Amino acid sequence: MQTSPAATVFPSGPSNLFYQSRLQRPTLDRAEGIYIWDREGNRWIDGSSGAMVANIGHSNPRVLAAMRAQMDRATFGYRLHFANEPAERLANLTASLMPEGLDRVFFVSGGSEAVESCLKLARQWAVATGQDSRWKVIARHPSYHGSTLGALAVTGYAPLSEPFAPMFTAMPKIPAPTCYLDRDNYTDAERGLRYAEMLREEILAQGPDSVLAFIMEPVGGASTGALVAPDSYYARIREICDEFGILLIYDEVMTGAGRTGRFLAAEHWGIRPDIVALSKGFAAGYAPLGAMVAARRLVEPVLDAGGFMHGYTYAGNPLACAAGLAVIREILDQDLTGNAGRMGALLKAEMTALMDRYPFVGDVRGKGLLLAFEMVADRETMTPLPREWNAHARLVEHAYARGLVVYSRRTRGGIEGDHILVCPPLIVTEPQIGEIMERLVASLDALAAELGLPRG
Ligand code: PMP
Repeated sequence: MQTSPAATVFPSGPSNLFYQSRLQRPTLDRAEGIYIWDREGNRWIDGSSGAMVANIGHSNPRVLAAMRAQMDRATFGYRLHFANEPAERLANLTASLMPEGLDRVFFVSGGSEAVESCLKLARQWAVATGQDSRWKVIARHPSYHGSTLGALAVTGYAPLSEPFAPMFTAMPKIPAPTCYLDRDNYTDAERGLRYAEMLREEILAQGPDSVLAFIMEPVGGASTGALVAPDSYYARIREICDEFGILLIYDEVMTGAGRTGRFLAAEHWGIRPDIVALSKGFAAGYAPLGAMVAARRLVEPVLDAGGFMHGYTYAGNPLACAAGLAVIREILDQDLTGNAGRMGALLKAEMTALMDRYPFVGDVRGKGLLLAFEMVADRETMTPLPREWNAHARLVEHAYARGLVVYSRRTRGGIEGDHILVCPPLIVTEPQIGEIMERLVASLDALAAELGLPRG
């Protein structure tokens, strides 16, 4: 049923628009639930919720109605001139969903801005409380925290940061807990502690008084392909941060708003971060929106000392906040977090079963509906497929040609692997998981045939 992607590009002539590459895709026409149509009438399953964004599905009528109602009143009022009700209500609702004490909400327009805000609030808190020596933010490798220069400084993904290296101060990195690659005799719990100890060692090496914060994705996103650490890791990281008075920043841009089966991924381990970054599922693609949520004990000294020296013109935009408010209500009213847990377990089981059929599927991982599998040359040694095969991108194209959108990445440096993220909207049903798997299997068969990969 699918035509080749290039056939449905609009406009047909040269375009003035550009993104990262010359890749051209068909033109979006409409989207509903988990499905997207192009202008030719071809239909895709949004198997990655875009870039893990469209968590409540497309064209939700209640969200659209809330946005229309707000549009009829006001779409903009500058925050320094007017407060607005959607922003106030969304801040209160968000705070009510956070761990105790995390109740100060700062709105932004996306994930990178949310991360920038976390870094700058942390630094201003240190300055305001007489800890000027603290400025280093330790991060992990691989990781992804955004594309602005501050967010890049904490991102562990060389291809994205290298060209800009002279323009920012790269922050120290410790290895992300890629335990699935370790061939040793430790238990998972022991491995988790060993990886956490690397933070302690790095703090000591940097000098504890110079370290401001540690930032991590509680479940890895595109950078690691849904990497989950052993349970022991999370609590130990919190302890280490506390030992040295270092702030713990959770980048929940991808994991937040229910994607992993809890509103925040932090809840799985009962962790209370000091600052949280949210975006993506927070407004689920209905508006460009993100938030930083910070502990009151950090914000108050900053405001007392003259104010937070940071802000964006579109912050707290009433239309974006009305969308976010309706999205969060939908997540709560429809228990989409619960559905993410239930459907995630089902999808993960089906994806794990792929390992019987395809020896080149080496690992299946993730939490809730943040799921991924990794393709390898040898499952025993976890040797990656040759980079030049570009297997992840090929699989994406095979799936795309079969009406399924999935998201992939080859992580370079640190760990090498072709990951495919399968992350449908949280409204996905059991029959729809069947549709996704059917297309995925057909795509893996096509890839195996193309690359001469073995089938079980
Ligand atoms: N942090 C994480 C964990 C992300 O996954 C992303 C986006 N992929 C970002 C930050 C940056 O978000 P944005 O693209 O909205 O700026």
